[in-house]
Amino acid sequence: MKKILITGAAGFLGSHLCDRFIREGYHVIGMDNLITGDLKNIQHLFKLEHFEFYHHDVSKFVYVPGQLDYILHFASPASPIDYLKIPIQTLKVGSLGTHNLLGLALAKKSRILVASTSEVYGDPQVHPQTEDYWGNVNPVGPRGVYDEAKRFQEAMTMAYHTYHGLETRIVRIFNTYGPRMRLNDGRVLPAFIGQALRGEDLTIFGDGSQTRAFCYVDDLVEGIYRLLMSDYHQPVNIGNPGEITISEFAEEIIKLTGTKQKVIYKDLPVDDPKQRQPDITLARKLLGWEPKVSRQEGLKITYEFFKNLPKEELYKEHKSF
Ligand code: UDP
Repeated sequence: MKKILITGAAGFLGSHLCDRFIREGYHVIGMDNLITGDLKNIQHLFKLEHFEFYHHDVSKFVYVPGQLDYILHFASPASPIDYLKIPIQTLKVGSLGTHNLLGLALAKKSRILVASTSEVYGDPQVHPQTEDYWGNVNPVGPRGVYDEAKRFQEAMTMAYHTYHGLETRIVRIFNTYGPRMRLNDGRVLPAFIGQALRGEDLTIFGDGSQTRAFCYVDDLVEGIYRLLMSDYHQPVNIGNPGEITISEFAEEIIKLTGTKQKVIYKDLPVDDPKQRQPDITLARKLLGWEPKVSRQEGLKITYEFFKNLPKEELYKEHKSF
């Protein structure tokens, strides 16, 4: 039986990856320090014989006994609110954490896939973003702690590949949504749906003309699975190219939820990218992958998830901050 270590296992993406690899018949070790992750996301897995959980911070030395075939490094705070609240941890998990996991992969002869991000492109001057674009990142802005940690992560991963011959994969993840997102992590989708459910106005930052392209989580997981199984070590964009403005997105959420509230405008956060859309030509060619779930379909499932949460969740701050 193949064994896989998934860091950030109690987070949004990590927990969906745990589900997928359990379904594929793997022995899954989930690891998380639970700063932004939540055990609720994986509680259904604890009863399984082939799931283990290690409560551990990967910025510290990582020990896993026995054979290890694959590592997925998905531990990291991943929303602008998180980087502002825990900037040092964000830098450490992307740099020291990645180094520890690359070291573990080398010792165990595992194949490792690291979660990078469209944030490596910063506020992009090339549109849509192709993998050969080097980006436009402000290292000392509020997003710098995340963006630069992820850029360092890519450099470190590539160095282990070239210097040690390690089998490495790098996925650049664009905006992704779905059940188990944190309602209060500040990201636009949970923010809008949470506001609609509480009967508050929807807060658009800036004039709402900035764009994003949202990928449903199942599509993302499929892309990551295929990339891990491929033999390609350069970065690959995985995301949904369906680009819309934040204003249009707010209208979609208003329609979906049937809220009677309106939109209100707030200041645009510093260094907020003006436009973002993945060019997925490479993923299509290399992995035969493209997203299958429409925004309409994905948003419906996600709204159902948020609607069914206990009422008090709507008013809760995240426990660890
Ligand atoms: N945004 C917004 N209202 C909110 C939260 C976010 O208008 O309540 C905007 C935000 O400024 C950004 C976009 O929505 O332009 C996506 O933000 P998110 O934090 O979800 O992701 P990222 O900026 O990392 O793509």
